[in-house]
Amino acid sequence: VKKIAVLTSGGDSQGMNAAVRAVVRSGLFHGLEVYAVQRGYAGLINDDIRQMDLRSVGDIIQRGGTILQTARCKEFMTPEGQQLGADNLRKRGIDGLVVIGGDGSYQGANKLSKLGIKTMGLPGTIDNDIPFTDLTIGFDTAVSIVVDAINKLRDTMSSHERSSVVEVMGRHCGDIALYAGLASGAETILVPEVPYDLDEVAQRMAGNFEQGKRHSIVLVAEGVGKGEDIANEITKRNGIEPRVTVLGHIQRGGAPTHNDRILASNLGDFAVRKLIEGDSGKACGIIKGELTVTDIDTVVHSKKEFNLELYELAKRLSQ
Ligand code: ATP
Repeated sequence: VKKIAVLTSGGDSQGMNAAVRAVVRSGLFHGLEVYAVQRGYAGLINDDIRQMDLRSVGDIIQRGGTILQTARCKEFMTPEGQQLGADNLRKRGIDGLVVIGGDGSYQGANKLSKLGIKTMGLPGTIDNDIPFTDLTIGFDTAVSIVVDAINKLRDTMSSHERSSVVEVMGRHCGDIALYAGLASGAETILVPEVPYDLDEVAQRMAGNFEQGKRHSIVLVAEGVGKGEDIANEITKRNGIEPRVTVLGHIQRGGAPTHNDRILASNLGDFAVRKLIEGDSGKACGIIKGELTVTDIDTVVHSKKEFNLELYELAKRLSQ
C-alpha cells in the first residue's frame, strides 16, 4: 500500500484519538500518504476525506471522543453504499484503510476488503465485547470511571448504612461490571453471562448488614436489565430500598487512561505495519500481551469468552 485512510465508527470510546494519532504518525513514518475519513462510513459515502500530516493529530492523545467523529450509517449496509465508499477511496489512490470500532464496523471493513481495499480493524469500544483480543480501546478508562463513581457512592452509602444498585454499560458483555466490581469490592455483580437468583441477591444484601458491613453494592451490567427493576425486585424480597445509580454515558467520556493510550498506540502502529505487509480483512488485538491478527470473519462469528475465574474471585473476596 502507498496511501491509507483511517476512520472511527460505531460508538465512540476513549483512546480512539490515540489510535488515530498512531495510525497517522506510523503511516507517515513508513513513507505512506495518510488520509482521514470524517464520521465513519457516512464520510466514506459522502466523500468527506482529507489528507493528514504530522500536526493534524497533535494534542489529541489525551482527549476522549474522536476528532474524526463517528456515525451509524444505514446506507453503508447496502452493496451500493459499499461500492461507493470503495470508489471514493480508490479515486484518490487510497488502497488501505484502518477502521476503529466495534463488530458492526468490522463487518463493514470486511465488505471493503472483498472490494479490493486492504482493511484492518482495531477494537474501539468500552464494552470489551470483541473476541480475539483481551482488551478493547476504551475499556480500561470506562472501568476506572465506574470504580471512581463507586468509591464516591461508598462514602455516602457507608455514612447512612445504605445499599446501592449501580447500573453500568457493556451491552451484552459483563466485563465492565466484572472488572469494576472486583476492583471496587462490590458485594454482588450481575452479568448476562452468569445466571443469578434474585432471592439469593436479596438475602445476601440483608446478610451484609448483619455481618457488620456498612454498605452493600450490587453492580448490574446493562445486559442483565435495568438497575431500577433489579432494585424493585430486591425490595419485594427483603424490604430494603436500595438507591439506584445509572452511570450512563459518562462512562464513555473523559481522558483515556495511560493503559488505553498505550494499547491504542501499539494497535494503531501494528495495523499500519500489517497493511504494509499486505494483510487485509483482519482484526488486530492483544492476547496475553502479544499483538495479534485474526480474520474478521472469524471474529464476528465468535463470542467473547467470559472470565469465570475472575467472577468467582470477586465473589469469594466480597464476603
Ligand atoms: P459499537 O459496538 O460501539 O456500537 P459497532 O461498530 O458495532 O460499534 P454498529 O452500529 O454495529 O457499531 O456499526 C457501525 C457501522 O458499521 C454501521 O452504522 C454500518 O455503517 C457499518 N456496518 C455494520 N454492520 C455492517 C454490515 N454487516 N455490513 C456493512 N456495514 C456494516
